[in-house]
Amino acid sequence: MATIAESPMTFTRLAHPAPVPVETRDQLLADPGFGKLFSDHMVTIDWSEEAGWHNAQVGPLAPLPLHPAAAVLHYAQEIFEGLKAYRLADGAMALFRPGANAARFNASARRLAMPELPEALFVEACRQMVAVDGGWFPSVDGGSLYLRPFMIATEAFLGVRPAKSYKFIVIASPAGNYFKSGAPAVSIWVSHYSRAAPGGTGAAKCGGNYAASLVPQAEAMEHGHDQVVFLDAEQHRWIEELGGMNLYFAFADGTLLTPPLSGTILPGITRDSLLTLAREEGLTVREERYSIDQWREDAASGRLVETFACGTAAVVTPVGRVTDPVKGEFVIGSGGPGQLTQKLRARLVAIQRGEAPDPHGWVMRL
Ligand code: PMP
Repeated sequence: MATIAESPMTFTRLAHPAPVPVETRDQLLADPGFGKLFSDHMVTIDWSEEAGWHNAQVGPLAPLPLHPAAAVLHYAQEIFEGLKAYRLADGAMALFRPGANAARFNASARRLAMPELPEALFVEACRQMVAVDGGWFPSVDGGSLYLRPFMIATEAFLGVRPAKSYKFIVIASPAGNYFKSGAPAVSIWVSHYSRAAPGGTGAAKCGGNYAASLVPQAEAMEHGHDQVVFLDAEQHRWIEELGGMNLYFAFADGTLLTPPLSGTILPGITRDSLLTLAREEGLTVREERYSIDQWREDAASGRLVETFACGTAAVVTPVGRVTDPVKGEFVIGSGGPGQLTQKLRARLVAIQRGEAPDPHGWVMRL
């Protein structure tokens, strides 16, 4: 089990004048959906050149007073994370690898010229959020409390340079089961847009990457597909990732492949966890480039048996069919969830929920 490092800062708790009445809250929690409900509080920490990180607070969730010239509104100096608080089999709450989210947050901060936040402070802010609003944990089966830590540039200045003041915030959103009945296979649209170029911000979790993915995602949906897959920007040949998930390919010979962390894809924490779990299952796992043409050819020949996407929201999700607007459609395996996909999903979920041993210390009990 992961241990909680001592917080480098004390949080001031502000009184909440009007939290949501418990009966209303419980009604809302019966059908939380995703990303539309928010708990009563938020955690905030400020940063300035003079004082560094200061003013850590747990206060009522409220709109932000922001100067219209705040740098975030003009030059998109913003980064974020996404992690879930789970309920363990014994009823306690836990976070899954929050230190990995903290480290990725700081990698994003470096790329966006923003100040890094001590990892223990990031984790403590998440812990404070769960401690104050644990009552917002959804009652539905498979539900979780999704935490959204983020940082914005708040300085009012229109020159293009790193801002001199920032705000770090954590909000919490109760989330239902991403897929109500297990994990149905998703269909994928091959985008002619690029998500990230070498030297760009593809490996950072910054809002701008997601703004740029909206048109490709809308195009996928217009064509009746669930998700978009991006190829590399230079050759438009190598498979990178989906709009919000990493990809794995499973072969009949027992090998598993995932695109390497080339700097243009997000280093997913689910992707990383599955590298370890798959190796423990005795699979040979390779982090290697894989082309869109090879994917099609291998699916047709039967050399490729499964493809799945992975990420915090959907955990492990099978990919059933793929459509390239030029070369047409192909189906993977049976078009439904494959055996390995289901096995790895079950292993990961069992660790996250405290139903299986946690030899790597991934679960942080709160
Ligand atoms: N790729 C992208 C672009 C994402 O937004 C996400 C979600 N954070 C992932 C991959 C999966 O990352 P994780 O497993 O850390 O959720």
